[in-house]
Amino acid sequence: MNEIIARLKEQGYRLTSQRKAIVLRVTEAAEPLTAILIWQSVRQEYPNISLDTVYRNLNVLAEMGILIPIGSAGKDGVRYELVHSAHHHHIVCVKCGQSRCIDYCPVNQDLLDIVHASGYDLIRHTVEFFGVCAVCQNTKGALE
Ligand SMILES: [Zn+2]
Ligand SMILES: [Zn+2]
Ligand SMILES: [Zn+2]
Repeated sequence: MNEIIARLKEQGYRLTSQRKAIVLRVTEAAEPLTAILIWQSVRQEYPNISLDTVYRNLNVLAEMGILIPIGSAGKDGVRYELVHSAHHHHIVCVKCGQSRCIDYCPVNQDLLDIVHASGYDLIRHTVEFFGVCAVCQNTKGALE
């Protein structure tokens, strides 16, 4: 946590107390959380905080490079992970939204050359895989 605050100060950002509470929730969680889950948890400390405020702060924290949004199944399905290790990607379960880290990046120099040829200044990229997790594969069998 102190490391994150130091990094933000370096970049000229400051962490408001609400933002700090959000980062803390994500840090303490065993799994990446959705905005709604983060909101429910932060509300215990800040009863007046709105879901919109949480969304806004999550966007800012993602822009700051502190949180990675995972999953693109509408904004309610997006889960946030603390940037904890080297750049990596995720596989997301289409049924329950749980995700796993894939510690590999398939983007290579050839691809970057093609991207640069577009004339755009590249900021970041995401690569996501979608599937059905082991738990959901099993519950499916139980329901049928
Ligand atoms: Zn699942
Ligand atoms: Zn990850
Ligand atoms: Zn990558």
